[in-house]
Amino acid sequence: MMIDRETRKRLIVAIANRVIASADELTDLDRAIGDGDHGTNMRRGFEAVLAAADELSAKSFGESLRAVGTTLVMKVGGASGPLYGTLFLSLGKSLANEVNREQVAEAFAVAIDAVKARGKSEAGQKTMLDVFLPVLAVVREGGDGIPARLRATARLAAEKTIPMKAIRGRASFLGERSIGHMDPGARSSELIVDAVADVMEGCA
Ligand code: ADP
Ligand code: MG
Repeated sequence: MMIDRETRKRLIVAIANRVIASADELTDLDRAIGDGDHGTNMRRGFEAVLAAADELSAKSFGESLRAVGTTLVMKVGGASGPLYGTLFLSLGKSLANEVNREQVAEAFAVAIDAVKARGKSEAGQKTMLDVFLPVLAVVREGGDGIPARLRATARLAAEKTIPMKAIRGRASFLGERSIGHMDPGARSSELIVDAVADVMEGCA
C-alpha cells in the first residue's frame, strides 16, 4: 500500500486528536498508580505534533515518523516521551512511502525491541509493551478484518494490565498496590492503535 501525503496527514491528525481527547482519562489512570502526568505529557507532545501536521506530512513517511519521534522526545517528557519517541524514530528508519504488511510487522518488531532496550523492559511488566506485543501478533498474522482485530486486541491487552503488578516505571514503586488499575501507557498505546485502525478503515 501507498502511504501518500494525504494518508500521512490523516494518520498524524487521527492519532494526535485521539490522544488529546483522552488526556484527562490518561491523567486519571496515572494518578492511581503514578504521578498523574501521563495525560498532560501526552497532550503536550501531540499538540505539538498536531500543530506541525502539514509540515510533517509533506515529508516522506519515514522522515515524518522520525520527526514525530523527535517531537515526542522533546515535548512529552517523563518516561513515556523517550519511549514513544524511540518507537516512532525506529519505525521511521525502516518504513518507506510504499509498504506492505510484512514490512510494517518487521519495522514494528524492531521498534518494539528498541523500546525494550531503552526501557530495560519486557512484556508482562504492566507497561505499553503489553499492548504493543499482542498488536504486533495481529499485524504479523494478517488476514481479514485487520482494523477491527487491531482495536479488539489493543482493548483487551490494555485491560489485561489491570491485574498485573508493575515491574517498571513509577507504578513499580507501589508494588502490590499497582494491581487493580489499568496502566496509563497501555491505554495511550491502545488509543494510538485505535486511531490507526480508524484511518485504515477510511473513517478518519
Ligand atoms: P512518568 O512515569 O515518568 O511520569 P508517564 O506518566 O508519562 O511518565 O508515563 C508512564 C507510562 O510509561 C507507564 O504507564 C508505562 O506504560 C510506561 N513506562 C514507564 N516505564 C517504562 C519502561 N521502563 N518500559 C516501558 N514502558 C514504560
Ligand atoms: Mg507519570
